[in-house]
Amino acid sequence: MYRIGFGVDSHRFEAVSTGKKLMLGGIEIPHPVGMESHSDGDVILHALYNALASALGEGSIGTAFPDSKEENQGRDSKEFVAHILQKTRQEGYIIQNVGVSLECKTPKINPHEKAFKESIAQLLGIKVEQVAVHATTGESLTAVGKGKGIYTQVIVLLEKHQKR
Ligand SMILES: [Zn+2]
Repeated sequence: MYRIGFGVDSHRFEAVSTGKKLMLGGIEIPHPVGMESHSDGDVILHALYNALASALGEGSIGTAFPDSKEENQGRDSKEFVAHILQKTRQEGYIIQNVGVSLECKTPKINPHEKAFKESIAQLLGIKVEQVAVHATTGESLTAVGKGKGIYTQVIVLLEKHQKR
């Protein structure tokens, strides 16, 4: 039995640097400003959470970990992913593949693509070959394309473990 999951997330860059690091896909990327966000603002991991939750028929990251809760302040998004991954496994699913697609003018994603794939694969306990990371600049068409922030879409395929 298969379940498909789709998730999106977006964050805008801080207008002025508060010293917050730019976290993407669980790793720190050199950039003058971080993301405006209650948590660490890792837009890839938030979309990944939403994709897994969507496959399981669960609510989005905002319902499970609301901005209004003090405990989520500055929180490492890897913890959110660990939470939904545990649920995925509890329900007897394994992850077949993950596709990440970013709209992002800055920073350049290409040099970090391999590191993103490795980080996401490690987080999910799957092989690097099961993860794809694509990026488009957005061609200045939208606010994101003009460099105001980053928009991410993630798709996942889950397969139910056959009990013998
Ligand atoms: Zn988010």
